[in-house]
Amino acid sequence: MDSIQKLVDTFRRFPGIGPRQARRFAYFLLTRDDSYNATLSKLIAEVKKDVRKCSDCQRFTSINNSKSTLCDICSDSSRDRTVLTIVGADTDLESIEKSGFYKGYYFVLGGNLPILEPEPEKKIRVKELRSLIEKKAKAGLTEIILALNANTEGEHTADYVAGVIRGLHGSNVKITRLGRGLSTGTELEYVDGDTLKNALRHRE
Ligand SMILES: [Zn+2]
Repeated sequence: MDSIQKLVDTFRRFPGIGPRQARRFAYFLLTRDDSYNATLSKLIAEVKKDVRKCSDCQRFTSINNSKSTLCDICSDSSRDRTVLTIVGADTDLESIEKSGFYKGYYFVLGGNLPILEPEPEKKIRVKELRSLIEKKAKAGLTEIILALNANTEGEHTADYVAGVIRGLHGSNVKITRLGRGLSTGTELEYVDGDTLKNALRHRE
């Protein structure tokens, strides 16, 4: 296989990228000068060195030379400790954060559960979720918002996670979901701030 084809195949594994886009990316790189491509390779090689997962919400966060294992949101004690929002991906957390309405904490599952997934715990961060809820429950948590995509996979994930939360010993937190207004099939990453604000305000 030639190197253009290898590059195309690599880009095709990116989320949301089809064969034509993958090909355009590969040809785009061929038109760049060497320094552009060298910078890009360097950034790709180093991206994981400067980033780690927050030990509470599990989102990817820059290390910034700090010794804390928490991200800027989890280490912000002025946020509302009574509410925790569970999202599928880092990009969903960013969308909600940008809407500016929500002031509680988060947890990132790291994916969604396909229907009939035989090993849910390998697809999403169930163990980490359990221990965070137990920790937050001791610190005054009263509500968990399931902010998952408004499609079949998202709903299946929400049902599964709700079951996990209910199964926690002594758990009596209220579980809510984003309100109507998100049309079926919607991925949170693409929802505008106002719609998200409404969905959060009308959670049910
Ligand atoms: Zn965090």
